[in-house]
Amino acid sequence: MRQDLDMDYFRTRLEARLLSLADNREKLKSDMVQKELDQTCVGRLSRMDSMQQQAMFQAAARLADQERQRVLHALESLRSGDYGYCMLCEEEISEKRLRFDPSVLTCISCARGGEGA
Ligand SMILES: [Zn+2]
Repeated sequence: MRQDLDMDYFRTRLEARLLSLADNREKLKSDMVQKELDQTCVGRLSRMDSMQQQAMFQAAARLADQERQRVLHALESLRSGDYGYCMLCEEEISEKRLRFDPSVLTCISCARGGEGA
């Protein structure tokens, strides 16, 4: 358990993030349904356009899901007292990095080293 971190601060930010992610997901879903309806009614968009749009929505939904997983993981580690440690090398993650994004699970060097791996 890290004594240097204000756990309440991070918990508050993570919980807020989780709520806004759930919110986004609902919006994304209703947007997608709306777009599909528009296309059926108007028929103006080509099949290619509609496939591109579909892919964009799916990519956005996937990113949101990944972030949600990270946020849930971070909240879990707050509960267990493991918050703020890199999940790969178990070094402490800098507070600056955590304040920038409270859901990061790895330290800066693992994040850099792990890219593309
Ligand atoms: Zn690390």
